[in-house]
Amino acid sequence: MPLALLPATLFGLLIGSFLNVVAHRLPRGESLATPGSHCPSCAAPVKPWDNIPVLSWLLLRGRCRSCDAPIAARYPIVETVTAVLFAAVVAVHLHDTTMLVLGLVLVAFLVPIALIDLDHRLILNKLTGPAAVLALVLGTALDPGGEVERLIAGAAAGGALLLPSLLVPGGMGMGDAKLVAVLGLYLGRGVAAAFLVAFVVGTLVGLALVLRKGMAAGRKTAIPFGPFLALGGVVGLLAGDELVDVYLDAF
Ligand SMILES: [Zn+2]
Repeated sequence: MPLALLPATLFGLLIGSFLNVVAHRLPRGESLATPGSHCPSCAAPVKPWDNIPVLSWLLLRGRCRSCDAPIAARYPIVETVTAVLFAAVVAVHLHDTTMLVLGLVLVAFLVPIALIDLDHRLILNKLTGPAAVLALVLGTALDPGGEVERLIAGAAAGGALLLPSLLVPGGMGMGDAKLVAVLGLYLGRGVAAAFLVAFVVGTLVGLALVLRKGMAAGRKTAIPFGPFLALGGVVGLLAGDELVDVYLDAF
């Protein structure tokens, strides 16, 4: 098992590096392929050996080799988080090919979805659409018997958020409803745990903001819900079945 974690981590670092590009370029309508990586300050192309995930950032001490402009710490952090999540998915689902594949694909979508929602308050159809299609195709191919549960979970979870997103302006958006539906298509009944975690953590962070900034300013600070749903999705992916079982046993 530890043997499988090394390639999972290295693969996660590479994918994380690409997800940084996705999160930066997709909302700006830029091509993901061209031009190659370049410094946003001086536009110098990044040499391949300066583009090694995490390592290059550390060796360059977070600065561009050409112009010395700082490179945001977010890049190596996103690479590290993606690598840790890939390793965790492999560790948890090593003997369940369906959840292994669905889990890695889901993580690869959740990382840019959370980042773009933080940056732009947007959950792009360009990400939730392909995520839903891949869930259907991979889920049906790998585990046809479980597809009905995942479809029901997706429809129920998306439907549950659709109404509040239509009724409460400025609260949840349609993008949130679509994202929960996607989580259902990947997690099946584990989407319940994902939503619960997102709701509880989102509420706690909202309360913390109100306490720190005071009621008026805190309530005005709109926080996007997508990152919390992404966090819930990760928890549901790694521990969803256990959490749902604990809940069902307790009540
Ligand atoms: Zn530069």
